[in-house]
Amino acid sequence: MDYKASEHIQDLQYFGEFGGVNPSISDSSTYTFLSAKTMFDTFEGNTEGCYLYSRHSSPSNLYLGEAMAQLEGTESANVFASGMGAITSVIFQLCDTDDHIVCSRTIYGGTYAFLKNFVKKFNISTSFIDITDLNVVEKSITSKTKMIYCEAISNPLLEVADIQALSKLAKKHEIPLVVDNTFSPLSINAARLGADVVVHSLTKFINGSSDCVAGAVCASSEFCLSLKDVNDGAGMLLGSTLDSLRAASILKNMRTLHIRIKKHSENAYYLAQQFEKDGLKVVYPGLKSHPGHQTMKSQMNPEYGFGGLLTLDVGSLDRANTLMEMMQKEKLGYLAVSLGFYKTLFSASGTSTSSEIPLEEQKELGLTEGLIRFSIGLDNNIHKTYLAMRRCMEALGILANNPTLT
Ligand code: PLP
Repeated sequence: MDYKASEHIQDLQYFGEFGGVNPSISDSSTYTFLSAKTMFDTFEGNTEGCYLYSRHSSPSNLYLGEAMAQLEGTESANVFASGMGAITSVIFQLCDTDDHIVCSRTIYGGTYAFLKNFVKKFNISTSFIDITDLNVVEKSITSKTKMIYCEAISNPLLEVADIQALSKLAKKHEIPLVVDNTFSPLSINAARLGADVVVHSLTKFINGSSDCVAGAVCASSEFCLSLKDVNDGAGMLLGSTLDSLRAASILKNMRTLHIRIKKHSENAYYLAQQFEKDGLKVVYPGLKSHPGHQTMKSQMNPEYGFGGLLTLDVGSLDRANTLMEMMQKEKLGYLAVSLGFYKTLFSASGTSTSSEIPLEEQKELGLTEGLIRFSIGLDNNIHKTYLAMRRCMEALGILANNPTLT
């Protein structure tokens, strides 16, 4: 992949009022028109550069949208009030009553619940399949299928989707490939690999400061405009609009994304290697033992590494909970959901972010109760962190005591 997303983001240059180095924040929900005719034309979607009402678009949201389009290398991008706002708008925009979706069986619990439970009201059905088995993916496609949906690196099992191969399949069947790239911004350019629509929860790495929720859809101009259509655009009509103030603050945080992602990846890779050497059950796409390692290597931008997430299976929920409480006490991170923060965040996925998935299905997926998902932070001395984590694991009998380590 030779697309230099971070350079494109950095090359974006705006001046605020009075020559400020940041774009001015649009502090209005509604906008004046000098002529009634222009207002009418804007409602019809014909007036470029005119603002109507901030649920439709606002200068601040457009700036952030532009940076998101640069991130994925798409023609355009729209921002939303949350990742779920982005995901649900895309699904409703692409599907009608009685339609069908082919979806990876390991995805974020909220997306799973939406596809499993909520869209039933519209008689939309979903086949949850193993996205790494292309035969199964193809066999699941029917005449009613309106999209293939997956996460580039899945939550929480960290399965790696072969986006190029899935894109070929989607094209063959003339359906769009929708990829949630929340876990791997910059590391994977999903659109460049062939995804038609890329969704992001900006809440995570992209904003990076765990102070707000937001989302984005990166796609063709045609699709992004359709989401905003005043008559039938899911973005416009479902009303999941990002506040301008938040859009402005996310845009500022995005400027350091490339530095943060490199550090998250470097730290996660270090811990994953150490944990594996220690004989722990660690899953990380950067390890040769990961089934998706080669796929990841073939589609990643190496300078950003294999990402900041790893999982560790410590055998039981009780042990997982005790370990997490102990690590929090030792100031090694927070027992909290979400990801992409400067501090390490850990949670037992089965009882938190994937609790929407029934227990039997969790078992089938290999989502064990002792599985802890770690979003590794920006620790300056990751070796010190490793030693402290090790001490916690030794104290709980998860690891044999090794006094030679300092
Ligand atoms: N996609 C993934 C992979 C996620 O992990 C999450 C949230 O955890 C979402 C989407 C939803 O994002 P948000 O919480 O911003 O609505």
